Amino acid sequence: MNAIRYNKPRDFVLVTLPVPQHGPREILTKAKSCDICGSDLHVDSGELDTRVPVITGHETGGIVVKLGNGAKGFEIGDKVTADNAELCGYCHYCRQAKPLYCDNFAAHGLHLDGGFAPYCVFPTEKLFRFENLDWEEAMLFEAASCAVHGVDRIRPVIGSTILLIGSSPTGLCLSQLLKANGVQHVVLASNAGLKMELAKKLNAAHQYVELDRQNPQQQWQLLHVQFPHGFDVVIVATGSHLVLEMAINFCTRGGTLLYYGVYEKDALIRVSPSKVFMDEITIIGSHSQMWCMARSVKYLESRRVDVRGIVDKAFRLEEFGQALDAVRNKQCVKATILFN
Ligand SMILES: [Zn+2]
Ligand SMILES: [Zn+2]
Repeated sequence: MNAIRYNKPRDFVLVTLPVPQHGPREILTKAKSCDICGSDLHVDSGELDTRVPVITGHETGGIVVKLGNGAKGFEIGDKVTADNAELCGYCHYCRQAKPLYCDNFAAHGLHLDGGFAPYCVFPTEKLFRFENLDWEEAMLFEAASCAVHGVDRIRPVIGSTILLIGSSPTGLCLSQLLKANGVQHVVLASNAGLKMELAKKLNAAHQYVELDRQNPQQQWQLLHVQFPHGFDVVIVATGSHLVLEMAINFCTRGGTLLYYGVYEKDALIRVSPSKVFMDEITIIGSHSQMWCMARSVKYLESRRVDVRGIVDKAFRLEEFGQALDAVRNKQCVKATILFN
């Protein structure tokens, strides 16, 4: 099979490899699609740690083609999406039932071979069956799972107001999840463009602030005027630490600020400790997800989180470089690699 393998950052090649072997409790899947995630750009640049050489692609799934002897609950031909993380089960955190913090956390597409290949092997418990979505939509289960985890982290109180900054695909899922889970008013603020057009089409929020890329200051000021007491929760889903630095000023007293996104490793922000103290601001992070996939499948399959149109560019595996460029240059909302 042909696969995209990274030898080091910025150095990927299309290599020919044997189809991987599955163990007794594992399942071999034949890929149908694997989405390009914003973090694939961070893998490319070396900002995300990987274990090389590795086949990348972590938003993946496909069709069950072979089952190990001990792999129960699936049949050949099932459409499945993969939760890409594998855990050690024996480290300090796993033993405290905090698997997301596993010392030996390994993700397919980063540390283990992933989905930019026509075949992949997954542990049985990490595959989830679905029926309704087509292959352009289906790999958003992963992005939506991270959004489910984000909602778990903030546990918004019924009737809250939330400012979500950033309209990435996972941001679009998060916004819809918040709307569906008791948030009274979601304001989605993001640079004007394709993603915000789609956000409106998907009815992802209650209010949209389409920011002027060059000069958003006036729009931020207007938002302060409209919400003089701020928001119960402010979520920064842009990956920009400068936006993060400014965002705390939108938190109400007793409010919460959620860091949601991959930031540059060396980035630092200035936070007023006096504001955090006096206003009792809760600052929390949300990274990846653990066991949120089953809920994500239900939300997407029922269309309560609508992902139609998020993937708007498809490439073949041989065009991986072009697909990365399309994401990097913001020529699409989201790109996917489609397989035969
Ligand atoms: Zn991703
Ligand atoms: Zn562990």
